[in-house]
Amino acid sequence: MEKIKIGIIGYGNLGKGAEKAVKLSKDMELVGIFTRRNKSEIDSDSNIYNISELEEFKGDIDVCILCGGSATDLWKQGPEIAKNFNTVDSFDTHAKIPEYFSQIDGSAKSGNNLSLISTGWDPGLFSIHRLFSQSIMPVGETYTFWGKGVSQGHGDAIRQIEGVKDAVQYTIPVEKVISEIQSGNILDLTTRDKHIRECYVVVEEEADKNKIENEIKSMPNYFSDYDTYVNFVSEDELKLNHSGMPHGGRVLRIGKTSENIKQIYEFKLDLGSNPEFTSAINVAYARAVYRLNKEGTKGAISVFDVPVSYLSIISPEEQRRLLL
Ligand code: NDP
Repeated sequence: MEKIKIGIIGYGNLGKGAEKAVKLSKDMELVGIFTRRNKSEIDSDSNIYNISELEEFKGDIDVCILCGGSATDLWKQGPEIAKNFNTVDSFDTHAKIPEYFSQIDGSAKSGNNLSLISTGWDPGLFSIHRLFSQSIMPVGETYTFWGKGVSQGHGDAIRQIEGVKDAVQYTIPVEKVISEIQSGNILDLTTRDKHIRECYVVVEEEADKNKIENEIKSMPNYFSDYDTYVNFVSEDELKLNHSGMPHGGRVLRIGKTSENIKQIYEFKLDLGSNPEFTSAINVAYARAVYRLNKEGTKGAISVFDVPVSYLSIISPEEQRRLLL
């Protein structure tokens, strides 16, 4: 079997997860990992290259999996790389997806390449279930809950506060509200009703804990709209009890298919490692991108544009057995 040749761009959490997922995919071969850092800083048995060498691999890599951060990396790397390679990325700044889509679309079309943007679990699998449930039940209400899980962005925000050495933040859904929705009640919910935020914070010895706690709780966009709980812990405790990257959540839609009939649609994820799961999704979509581009599809697409069968390594005949 001719293998799909993969390049991984960036070696952070997602890059490491993608390396593992490619190794588990029998129809794929990892050509190399491309980093902006000095190659000697990367601890991996795979082929490591500097990102400046990527263009030399034009024609030798079928799909590049872009593992950079959404805030700045992907804005630069996405449009540049899409000119020369098919790409898959996990761009997750929800409000800016239309703008990002149009930049990538132009670049990918200029090189006759295909770029699938914003895959992962949210955006990604959750988006599919929001669209799926809404298509089946046009009358109804959809809710998304996240957690319990670590939100890197919120941890980063706490670390910016003076006197804070390190921090981990968990987003936790309010189970009472979920139970009410699961029993078929359509609720009008505020941000505060749906999630709480729990913070574990390590501070400098002389730091004013009350001041730090107030600063966290009143931080706009991140914490002020939520019930936020702050726990001060030692460096050792943070390392011992809060160094994993679990996450998950659920999409719930309460639909009405006739006057008195309510239907409940639920999709739930419980993830031991957010980045490893996200990367596994990206690798499955890389297979689909390879196949769709071979058929002539170009430009930018999203998860909504990919037939499910294109994600799978198993043959169409074997897939049809899953209908039995
Ligand atoms: P990281 O911060 O771990 O990695 C981002 C980039 O930073 C890497 O590609 C790497 O580039 C660089 N980097 C990583 N570690 C180091 C280091 N020690 N020193 C210097 N540079 C480093 O981000 P994640 O992999 O956790 O996440 C990437 C993006 O994925 C997030 O911004 C998020 O937006 C998105 N995401 C989307 C999800 C979804 O469901 N759609 C779910 C989870 C994440 P280089 O090797 O070139 O230096």
